[in-house]
Amino acid sequence: MKNMEFTPRKEPVIYVVEPYGGSVRKHLPSLPLVYWDDAAVTRGDGIFESLLIRDGKAANLARHGQRFINSALALELPEPQLEKWEEATNLAIADYFGPDGQGEAKCTWTYTRGRASTGHPTAWVVVQPIDAKIIEQRAKGVKVMTTPRLWQVAEELPAKTLNYAATMATLRLARGKGFEDVIFTDPETGLVLEGATSTVVAVRGDKLRTPAGKGILPGTTQAALFEYATEKGYRCKAKEITPGYLERSDSAWLVSSVRTAVRVTNLDGTRLKAPDNAAEIRDLLDAALAR
Ligand code: PLP
Repeated sequence: MKNMEFTPRKEPVIYVVEPYGGSVRKHLPSLPLVYWDDAAVTRGDGIFESLLIRDGKAANLARHGQRFINSALALELPEPQLEKWEEATNLAIADYFGPDGQGEAKCTWTYTRGRASTGHPTAWVVVQPIDAKIIEQRAKGVKVMTTPRLWQVAEELPAKTLNYAATMATLRLARGKGFEDVIFTDPETGLVLEGATSTVVAVRGDKLRTPAGKGILPGTTQAALFEYATEKGYRCKAKEITPGYLERSDSAWLVSSVRTAVRVTNLDGTRLKAPDNAAEIRDLLDAALAR
């Protein structure tokens, strides 16, 4: 894999997906795409997936596809035709990277309940550069604030919905206090839930732990990491975790598709020591995502 540290700035590539399994077509990023009465705009009502594109292909594609279907089911949207989403993704990757196919990008699948006037879902795929901040955080880590999550999504099944407004407000609040990211805790038990847009992973020796509990979005990155690490002899488990457990671990990480793994360097003002096996954890995840 080349050019992982530096991806030149490029124009986004967009493909619209006909929602009932019809055609996919390219859309110019300079032209509008979503109408004024789309449920995504008026209600934040829809689902999405963020995927890492690495060396010409979407990493962890099967897990993203499965979660996308589960999210649609949870919101009672028509089942997405995955082969069409994959076709649009591959076309967008080819257009974005050209023949060499090297480097990284971010891909987003967005699927909304659609226009009030038509009732048809709106669906599109974007491939675009990864935010420079993410690349920087992979190298430097992040200072994190824990905060109770005071809202609960009513869906019975976990879904990756478009409704991140409360999360974004919490991130703004944390940034205003000098933190770079947030870990949500359960307001009743104080147990760790998940990052604002990531899954929490704690490492102690050969033990990898991720929080167990209700209301945690099942992360595709954590799942890939745990499957691969288990094969390599690590002991991986979901269990109840307190913020203190994170502080006392060898290392604590925020993992998600595009950021891959970012180390928590400071939790609520307490500096977390730098582990000597950070590179090993990153290598594990990179290998897990390359399968
Ligand atoms: N939890 C939340 C709330 C998220 O928003 C995300 C990703 O955006 C994750 C976990 C990590 O999921 P994944 O590893 O599939 O990107």
